Formats: sequence, structure tokens, C-alpha cells
Amino acid sequence: MTEYTTQIAVIAGGPSGLSAAVQAAEDGAEVIVLEKAATVGGAANMGMGPLGIGTKYQRQQMVDITVEKAFKMFMEYTHYNVDARLVKRYFEQSAETIEWLEDMGVEFEGAFRYFPKSEATWHIVKTDQGIGPRAASFMNKALYARAQELGVQVLLETPAKKIIMEDGKVAGVLATDKDGNEVKVNCKAAIICTGGAGCNKDFIKKETGYDHGVDMFNFAIPGIMGDGLRMAWEAGADHLPVRIEQAAVIEGIDDLPGSVANIMGQPNLLVNYDGKRIMNEEEMQNTTFLSNVASHQKKRTCFSIVDSSIVRYYVKNGVDNVCLVRPDPDVSDFPEAVKMAKENGNEGLFIADTIEELAEMTGINEENLVDTVDEYNDYCDSVDEEFFKDRRYMRPLIKAPYYAARIRPGGYGTVGGIRINENCEACDKDFEPVPGLYAAGADACNIYDDSYMFLLPGNSMGFAVNTGRIAGMSAAEYVEDED
Ligand SMILES: Cc1cc2nc3c(=O)[nH]c(=O)nc-3n(C[C@H](O)[C@H](O)[C@H](O)COP(=O)(O)OP(=O)(O)OC[C@H]3O[C@@H](n4cnc5c(N)ncnc54)[C@H](O)[C@@H]3O)c2cc1C
Repeated sequence: MTEYTTQIAVIAGGPSGLSAAVQAAEDGAEVIVLEKAATVGGAANMGMGPLGIGTKYQRQQMVDITVEKAFKMFMEYTHYNVDARLVKRYFEQSAETIEWLEDMGVEFEGAFRYFPKSEATWHIVKTDQGIGPRAASFMNKALYARAQELGVQVLLETPAKKIIMEDGKVAGVLATDKDGNEVKVNCKAAIICTGGAGCNKDFIKKETGYDHGVDMFNFAIPGIMGDGLRMAWEAGADHLPVRIEQAAVIEGIDDLPGSVANIMGQPNLLVNYDGKRIMNEEEMQNTTFLSNVASHQKKRTCFSIVDSSIVRYYVKNGVDNVCLVRPDPDVSDFPEAVKMAKENGNEGLFIADTIEELAEMTGINEENLVDTVDEYNDYCDSVDEEFFKDRRYMRPLIKAPYYAARIRPGGYGTVGGIRINENCEACDKDFEPVPGLYAAGADACNIYDDSYMFLLPGNSMGFAVNTGRIAGMSAAEYVEDED
């Protein structure tokens, strides 16, 4: 067994863990990070950037978002069903966190919206390749470098297994190294930051009811198995509901050409297996809303449908909603790209010469679909009496071929499960802090209630970095008092 002694063990080196480690070390604590993977950064290596509110970028861009406005929006959105003190502290700290990241070399492109109705709170990290997926890996590199500069020891490929409790207080963490040998870290405080349980099918089924890979498809990175949740609950922390951080997916999205994902994700006609419309499609841009809607349909499925005249419109004029995650605005290869995706095995895309044929291929109720398309086409000449969709998105389906894409619930993984207070202390059923135990990031993200708050984008990485910092501050104070 290899044994280490330190003041604070940070369990995991994703954005919350790295932020916790850097903050605690800046506050004078001795820190060891235990990371399961061979690299740091966690899921945030896939993402683009964190939330900030009241930042210099927003002032420069004349974006009107304040902590007060965001806080009120957030609390109303969640029906006040979450910890207001934690939300307030997170939002209030978020602008200073952007500067804290800049001080260690992170640069930002500015503050962005995810879709038109969202606020420009998404601070996309600048890279040498322009705006695009994985930009936030540059932030993680800077955090890692800063941690090393501060003397934080990072043990890669060393998954934590158990929190050692003595006299009701944290006394250490047990882990294993890459060869399976036991590692013991003696410490006074542990900060749990393992990113939820997005890959753990059984856990997801038990906690949320979704069948991951069957009726819900999330993008969690490998290794996110709920280890931290289990360790925290075993150590005495209260078990709060675990949720899916909902974001709908077009089936096979990871392998789809950009033009297909772009066009099928537009505010097109959206129906369920009954052939009925299910929402005002202009709200589809908020993929949390779309995922919630899909979750309430038969087989948790809905279909986005376009005809070739709508495709031609998008090719000529560009798509209605440009997505920064898939910023390629050129959709001219759509017809060939759909065919290619189908040939490559995508079973969620359909091409038909008539609406009736499309119904047969997809399994949608034919009679209802024909009626729905007729009615929808009529609304295109007048107003959408059914769901009040803005006229600018109303385009009739009149010309073959017709295309459909299956859309399912999805998510970035799980959020929540460990009760924390505004100091990121893990708390027991009586709301009392478990001495020496802290949690941050997705493991402790109980602030969305049942739906991810996409109206303030960057929210989950923002929560991870900011709660990581708060946990680091609290733990550093605690270990100093304990010495
Ligand atoms: C494709 C994609 C894009 C995204 N884009 C954005 C975005 O632009 N903005 C945004 O706000 N959010 C985004 N998110 C979400 C965001 O990345 C997460 O909310 C954030 O990374 C959560 O941080 P975390 O530190 O809690 O966990 P994670 O980033 O998931 O890190 C958890 C870490 O824990 C480690 N670990 C697991 N078990 C153990 C163990 N037993 N011992 C030690 N280590 C362990 C893992 O290896 C991992 O490194 C995106 C997510 C995905 C998947």
C-alpha cells in the first residue's frame, strides 16, 4: 500500500475538482488530487465554457444581465424548489471566477447565447482553432498548470473508493493505483467532485427511471459511474434526487454530418408516433425543453420533419438558428449527407416520396400524420392556431422527398445527489455538515430541480468551477481550524 498524508484530498480532477484544488492551495492548504482517468479535465474537455454573470465581456457587449436578473429568472424557473443561498453565492462569484481563470492564462472569446431566447452568459474559451467543441479543454489545461505551480500533487489513474471516517470526521481516502495496489491518503478534509453517474446504466435506471441507451442517450464521458455519490452517502451525506441533465438528441448525433444535425434540429414540424404535434417548435432550440417533451411521448420519441422545399430554403438562406456547437453554416450537402448517414447505419433517419410512405417507414400513425401536415400547411398561410409558432418558422411541407429524424431524450449525464449547503459542505439528513466532507460540480448540482436551466448557458460548467472554488475555500478554512 502506498500512503500519503496531506490536508485536503480532492476526489477527481474535472473542472470542479481542479478548481477546488487550486483554490484550496491558493488559500494555503496542502492538497492531493486523486483522478480516475489518465488525464484531467473530465467532461469539460468536451465543452466550450462556463457561465459568468456581470462580467466585463457582457459590459463590453452591452449585454443586460445582472446577478439580480439572473437570480430572479433562475428561482422562478425552478419554482423556488432549490437552495437560493447557493444559487446566489454561485452567481455572485461567477464574474470574479472568469477573472480568476484569466489570471491563470485562460482567454475568452466573449459572452454568448446558446439560442436566441437564452441570455449571453456562456463564456466560451478562446483556442488556437476558433470557436468550437472542446474549447474548455484549454481552461482545464490552465487549471492543471496552476495546480502544479501551487504544489498540488495530482495522482492520475488513481480512482478513489472510500472515505475513511474516524470519530464522525473525515480522516482519509482509500483509492487504488493503476496496477490495482491500494493507496491511502490521510487527510482532514475530502472534496468529492466525480461528475455524477452518467455512464452507469443500473444507477440511472434506479435513480431516474430512464434506460440509458434505450430510451435516453447521454453524452457522458467514460468512467463517470457515481463513485462520489456512493462514497458521500456511505460517509453520511444525505441522498437527494439524482436527475438527468436533459438535452434532446437526434439519433446517432455523434456520427451525423453537420448539415443533417443542423437542418433536423431547426424549428421544423415535430410530431409523435400518433402523428400529432407536441410543442411550439420554435422552443426546440432549448434542448432541455425538447428532451422533456420527448420524454412525455410514446416510446419517448418524436420526429422532426422537413420536405425538399424547406431544405432548399435552408440551403439558400441559411438555417434559422445557428448553433455554436456545430457552427458549420453550410448545409448544401444535406440530401447526400442524409443518404450517406443512412448507408452508414443510422436507423433514425427516413427519406420518403410521400407523407404516407414516411408514416409507414417511421411507424407514425398515417391518417393523423396526413391530417397534421394538411392542417400545418394551412396554418402556414394564416396563423398557427395549435401552438402559436412564430410565422417566420412556418413553412409548408409540399414537395418530395420528405425527410424525418427521430429525436430522443438525452443529456450531459446526471446532476445532483449529494446535499450541500452554500459553503459546499456535504450535509446529512438533519442538514448538519459532515465534518471535513465537501462536494462540488455535478455530484452536488441540485440546483436545477427537474430541468437544466439552458436559458443561462454555461450553467453546469459554471456551477462546477464556482462550487469547486467554494468547496476549496471552505475546506481550506476547516483544515486550518483543525490544525
Ligand atoms: C459534450 C459535452 C459538452 C458540454 N459543454 C458544456 C459547456 O459548454 N458549458 C457547460 O456549462 N457545461 C458543458 N457540459 C457539462 C460540463 O462539462 C459538466 O457539467 C462539467 O464537466 C461537470 O464538472 P465536474 O467536475 O462535476 O465533473 P466532470 O467534468 O464529469 O469530471 C469528473 C471527473 O471525475 C473523475 N472520476 C470519476 N470517478 C472517480 C473516482 N472514483 N476517483 C477519482 N476520479 C473519479 C472522472 O474521471 C472525471 O475526470 C458539457 C458536457 C458534455 C458531455
